[in-house]
Amino acid sequence: MSDAARNYYFATALPPPPHAPLAGEVRADVCIVGGGIAGLSAALHLVERGFTVALLEAKHLGFGGSGRSGGQTIFGYASGQEKLKKVVGDADARKMWDVALEGMQLQQQLIARHGIDCDYVAGHMHVGVKPRHDAELAAEVETLHEEYGYSTVRTVSHEELRTLIASDRYTTGLYDSASGHLNPYKYTLGLGAAAARAGVRIFENSWVTKLDVARDADGEHVAHAANGTVRARHLLVAGGALLGRLVPELARKLMAVGTYIASTEVLGERRAASLITNDAAVADINWVLDYFRRTPDHRLLFGGRVSYSGLDPFDSSRIMRGRIVRVFPQLADVKIDYAWGGFVDITPNRAPHFGRLAPNAYFLQGFSGHGMVITGIAGKLVAEAISGTAERFDVFARIPHRDFPGGALFRRPALVLAMLWFRLKDLL
Ligand SMILES: Cc1cc2nc3c(=O)[nH]c(=O)nc-3n(C[C@H](O)[C@H](O)[C@H](O)COP(=O)(O)OP(=O)(O)OC[C@H]3O[C@@H](n4cnc5c(N)ncnc54)[C@H](O)[C@@H]3O)c2cc1C
Repeated sequence: MSDAARNYYFATALPPPPHAPLAGEVRADVCIVGGGIAGLSAALHLVERGFTVALLEAKHLGFGGSGRSGGQTIFGYASGQEKLKKVVGDADARKMWDVALEGMQLQQQLIARHGIDCDYVAGHMHVGVKPRHDAELAAEVETLHEEYGYSTVRTVSHEELRTLIASDRYTTGLYDSASGHLNPYKYTLGLGAAAARAGVRIFENSWVTKLDVARDADGEHVAHAANGTVRARHLLVAGGALLGRLVPELARKLMAVGTYIASTEVLGERRAASLITNDAAVADINWVLDYFRRTPDHRLLFGGRVSYSGLDPFDSSRIMRGRIVRVFPQLADVKIDYAWGGFVDITPNRAPHFGRLAPNAYFLQGFSGHGMVITGIAGKLVAEAISGTAERFDVFARIPHRDFPGGALFRRPALVLAMLWFRLKDLL
């Protein structure tokens, strides 16, 4: 089955207008590699500031995580604030928190300003699956209220949670009315349409196979694709987990981890609504987490399970079905209509990895499976930096990132071991 037929979002979206591949030599102020939310947001913010922009996408807009995601738009970072404080100190961690909050507002503004129809629904719950999670969730709510003044979160008791999710699996929860869920592919395409309308030149099926990065500030970067080149004074690399080894110094900081999502058949409004009565998105707080939500056409969309040994799309449907039934045994008779996989770009400390390859060559990566909100604001930070105000971008560029343990050869075995450890931790 083709990628387009397996992925619920690709199969159900209206076919977007295609963008022709790059042919010949194109000049622009900024060249962007990658047509996900990060690259498109940067493109949009840059063109609005008066730059000319050429964006190269290897396949089609939203081909990467941005068109495969669970669509859960959640506050904060994958690493969590406490970890960030240890890594960058209290002051920078606080600045990062403020950026993440602005990211949530920016997402709403982009949706409203550009009329993006992406099925946004407010409400998100983190839920516990074992007694020790209750204390963790309660402490998180307290910290968010007292340290960050983030008042949209509250704890959800076991009794209340039982009325919200039709499953015996969960203990207590953290509900956030400012987080939510959306169709990530439609959101990405909406950003792409807005960028194209504003004048960004988008080239699809234009895989960048070689990058000549100018090492000095006056130089010109050159991106090479099969039938053309883009020359630009500024460069942004936003290829996420699919960038591969194009830029070895970026590849060393990332592990591309395979993860899966399945969508049930249409359940009908009553049955779907009975599963999550408040229509919030839900994620448990295990390291190898389950996350799920309803769709506007009344399916259950359920993600989880990671694979460090590569994606296995053929049996993902059966495995995901098992995970769905573990949460909702009442869905044992339900068919899986779609099951697809994608890669998340994980850093060792799970903090985002932004920086420069050279004075005018920027990169954004390492969203670590928590990129729906941060990618958008990250694109804005790059636009600020290219326009001469790099203060906020540099808060992120200062985050220390180690190479992934094991080097190129042993990265995967090292990660499989780490994975076994995290699975074990989830069992305790
Ligand atoms: C299955 C799955 C579920 C997820 N669920 C959630 C969730 O619920 N909530 C959340 O916050 N986050 C989630 N994420 C993470 C989130 O989707 C990502 O962090 C985010 O979409 C990353 O956006 P991006 O623009 O950085 O990269 P991507 O969306 O991956 O875009 C990068 C693009 O660059 C292109 N590219 C790569 N190399 C080249 C090259 N050499 N030349 C040209 N183009 C190139 C790729 O084709 C791709 O389209 C999930 C991810 C996956 C895979």
